[in-house]
Amino acid sequence: AKCSANYVPLTPLTFIKRASMVYSNRTSIIYGEVRFTWRQTYERCCRLAYSLRSLNVVKNDVVSVLAPNVPALYEMHFAVPMAGAVLNAINTRLDAKNIATILCHSEAKVFFVDYEYVPLASEALRLLVGKHAMPLVIVIDDINKPTGVRLGNLEYQQLIHHGNPEYPGEDLEDEWDAIALNYTSGTTSEPKGVVYSHRGAFLSTMSLIQGWEMGTEAVYLWSLPMFHCNGWTFTWGVAARGGTNVCIRNTTADEMYKSISIHKVTHMCCAPVVFNILLEAKPHERCRINSKVNILTGGAPPPAALLEKMEDLGFHIMHAYGLTEATGPALVCEWQTKWNELPRDHQASLKARQGVSILTLSDVDVKNKVTMESVPHDGKTMGEIVLRGSSIMKGYFKNEKATAEAFQKGWFLTGDVGVIHPDGYLEIKDRSKDVIISGGENISSVEVESILFKHPAILEVAVVAMPHSRWGESPCAFVVMKKPGNTTETEILAYCRKNMSKFMVPKKVEFVEMLPRNGTGKILKVVLREMAKTLHIS
Ligand code: ADP
Repeated sequence: AKCSANYVPLTPLTFIKRASMVYSNRTSIIYGEVRFTWRQTYERCCRLAYSLRSLNVVKNDVVSVLAPNVPALYEMHFAVPMAGAVLNAINTRLDAKNIATILCHSEAKVFFVDYEYVPLASEALRLLVGKHAMPLVIVIDDINKPTGVRLGNLEYQQLIHHGNPEYPGEDLEDEWDAIALNYTSGTTSEPKGVVYSHRGAFLSTMSLIQGWEMGTEAVYLWSLPMFHCNGWTFTWGVAARGGTNVCIRNTTADEMYKSISIHKVTHMCCAPVVFNILLEAKPHERCRINSKVNILTGGAPPPAALLEKMEDLGFHIMHAYGLTEATGPALVCEWQTKWNELPRDHQASLKARQGVSILTLSDVDVKNKVTMESVPHDGKTMGEIVLRGSSIMKGYFKNEKATAEAFQKGWFLTGDVGVIHPDGYLEIKDRSKDVIISGGENISSVEVESILFKHPAILEVAVVAMPHSRWGESPCAFVVMKKPGNTTETEILAYCRKNMSKFMVPKKVEFVEMLPRNGTGKILKVVLREMAKTLHIS
């Protein structure tokens, strides 16, 4: 394609240039008292890109950043690749050791640090001494209320101030060039660096704004961290539609409800764990929801009972499935109008399925991992979920072994186990490492959890394998109650016996105050499995 005279690489960078013209005076960003228009946002990105070039950032250099959802992080999604560099947004919940590992592995040349994370970043930088060349550190002070906190001599606004608003951006020659480097959250293995291409980012963004019917009047609330797969591509997507970004520093119930009601939010993304924050909010934290709020959820299986409760509150939920390696969402549970006639609980269970491929992903299938044969569409036969298409990563950064293991016959192996229903919709049953094998029978922990979730006393639940002398493994449920003392193990077990097949009933229910989670909020089943080994079946 590159030989053809009219070849133009696909890149989401074209979105912001267009937005500066078409939506020039529309509000691009709201953050506390701060407001920008699309013309201003584009200008700020040009200035920042120019300054990065002046600081010797060249093609393919990695620019890391540790920041919450502030305007600077949004701008960097455009400015860094406009300078020809690769953006590496780091999860702010990681510890100093993990951050140092990422800075070292990615060979970061520049490291932007939000003022609030200066202590954490300093610790990470200390760990880098002697191991790797120090990146140039630039602090991002709060744009609403500058604090004066510094780490090194440079501050973000200086780069904007000294930049050139006319800087046209680096010419992109190849759409397969890297735009971002994102590390997996490492729920089941060590974090790995995934390289995103301009092409993959462009295609995924197009699919998502189309699939979610995001119009030009969209008001997007940043409840999902931008460092999660670049905000599931909505960093670029909101610019494509000339919508408004509402940036918030903390995703508390209070902040989210307030933003929804004041700015009339139309779209937001979040993992299912955030639903509990919204559902359990105290009355004084809640606001009336006057606009139609569309929520895209994913990152972990949303139990049907939880989806139903959110819709009762007035939220309109769409469900997507994805992974870092797929540039974000790869499947979406596309709604069929005929389902509107069904009872509400049936609708919720259809929506809890992970669905079909997004428009621009070439192919998705469920295959037997050994034979690589497709499983029948019977909703029962489990196999490995595999993906193929332009938005799937080319490979892991500097890790040929893991890259070779991740692909088989051109298909990317997700490490998730699922089934395909007769209507072609896919449903995750588990992560392969979390499947419970009891007496030769495969038990989906997700299925047991979704039934337990319907129990009125249960706030959160995670089911893992525990060793069993007769069955090899059997399910063990870790339960967080809504109010301590609301229920008992005997009562929950009786409920299970009534509502699920006998072999799926947990042999043990253990009450805990909270579930162990990793930096991205995913439940750490590895830790729970270790805990389960020490428990006794009563
Ligand atoms: P990690 O693999 O380290 O957790 P990711 O953040 O890339 O890093 O997580 C991707 C995984 O999250 C998927 O492989 C899958 O197990 C899980 N996941 C994502 N979306 C969904 C969903 N809608 N339903 C169930 N599981 C999901």
